[in-house]
Amino acid sequence: MTKGHCLCGATSWEYSGEPTWACYCHCDDCRRNCSAPVVAFIGVLLDHFEWTGDTPKVYHSSKGVERHFCETCGTPMAFQAEHYAGEIHLYATSLEHPQEFEPKFHVHTGEKLDWLHLRDDLPRYTGSKTD
Ligand SMILES: [Zn+2]
Ligand SMILES: [Zn+2]
Repeated sequence: MTKGHCLCGATSWEYSGEPTWACYCHCDDCRRNCSAPVVAFIGVLLDHFEWTGDTPKVYHSSKGVERHFCETCGTPMAFQAEHYAGEIHLYATSLEHPQEFEPKFHVHTGEKLDWLHLRDDLPRYTGSKTD
């Protein structure tokens, strides 16, 4: 089992098996949701995932999109969307051991902040990976 939790520990999650992908997202919505210059995600199949502890609150950031966060401390926890049916995208820094996270690519680099300087050689996609 891979586990994760919010800042206060009230909201937590776990999944079994391997994530389907791991990446950075530079889109404005993710950035604002986390108030961070870039956000890291792991994709997990809903069938292998469950919330443990408190059920997170949900904010609908755009049509068909849910952003889950801890009601107690406000930590952003996950993204779920109608256009990614059967998956949940976890904010990777909520991992119990975020050091073990290995992002494989960048998405929405068309919106990347100019003052954020990245030295990795990972593939970069201007929009989403499937655009
Ligand atoms: Zn919390
Ligand atoms: Zn995003």
